[in-house]
Amino acid sequence: MKEEEIRPQHIFDEYLLLAKRDSQKYFSDRLGEEVVHCPACNAEGKHSFTKHDFNYAECHFCQTIFVSPRPPVESFLRYYQESESAIFWASTFYKETAVARREKIWRPKALMIRELITRFGTEECSLVDIGGGYGIFAEEYEKISNQKVTVVEPGPALALVCQEKGLKVVQGFLEEINPEQLDRGAKTFVSFELFEHLHDPERFLRHLYSLMSAGDLFIFTTLSGVGLDIQVLWADSKSVSPPHHLNFLNPKSMRLLLERLGFNVLQISTPGKLDIDILCNNEKYIKDRFWRTFINQATEYEKQKMQTFIADNGLSSHILVVCKKS
Ligand SMILES: [Zn+2]
Repeated sequence: MKEEEIRPQHIFDEYLLLAKRDSQKYFSDRLGEEVVHCPACNAEGKHSFTKHDFNYAECHFCQTIFVSPRPPVESFLRYYQESESAIFWASTFYKETAVARREKIWRPKALMIRELITRFGTEECSLVDIGGGYGIFAEEYEKISNQKVTVVEPGPALALVCQEKGLKVVQGFLEEINPEQLDRGAKTFVSFELFEHLHDPERFLRHLYSLMSAGDLFIFTTLSGVGLDIQVLWADSKSVSPPHHLNFLNPKSMRLLLERLGFNVLQISTPGKLDIDILCNNEKYIKDRFWRTFINQATEYEKQKMQTFIADNGLSSHILVVCKKS
């Protein structure tokens, strides 16, 4: 898989430009409001860099990268509801990439989740897709399994799209959901590329834990701040994109956080496929001599081999977590 297939550069760049403008419009007067501690281990962070006026801190205990000070949650709610870039993402970006994403991302994810449930959970469970968006994962999952998927989605327009597809939808943020709104019986909760956006990850996880029964799984993907492309490109990484991405944990700090909150961590891996490709697409920002040379000299086969090594050793920026309530 190549980055261009799921994030065509010209559309992605336009989106990032709109987001940069919006972040001034929606956040400029409230950027310094609340100093937050490391979302993983609660230690005090140290300022690392500023991007589009957002300050990113790094935790020197667990290497988590996070936005601090952090604007209040109301600013984010307004931003996600009405900003030009959020609308661009949900309409233009989505439409232009829908077919490729269904095939390259959602279909393989559905297969992966089914395998993980077979391995770690019980086949007799229903699924809850937190932040399910357009419901494409849910559709793909229901095609290959007898398990029903409930989509939890706060956006009214997206919730309606899911309803029209015949999916079960609970409209709202996970943090506001009651157990009665979900199906009875064993459940697997999933969320994809959501965790990095959370204003308060601990609150999210505590509430999720309260919705889970013993034996239920939570399987999710997010960004790892110690992943190759983020470490090499740092502030120039397009993944470091305020106001969207606020938390970059890593395999080590994710385990710390989940275990602190009582989760039983079954597997943390980094099955990313794009790190090297992202470096190739952002060569002008690479300062490190080793990676500049590698990108210039390596054959496609060598790049592929390096990507496999990176993924197999917890060093990709795409992280997959399987945990359980015991
Ligand atoms: Zn920390």
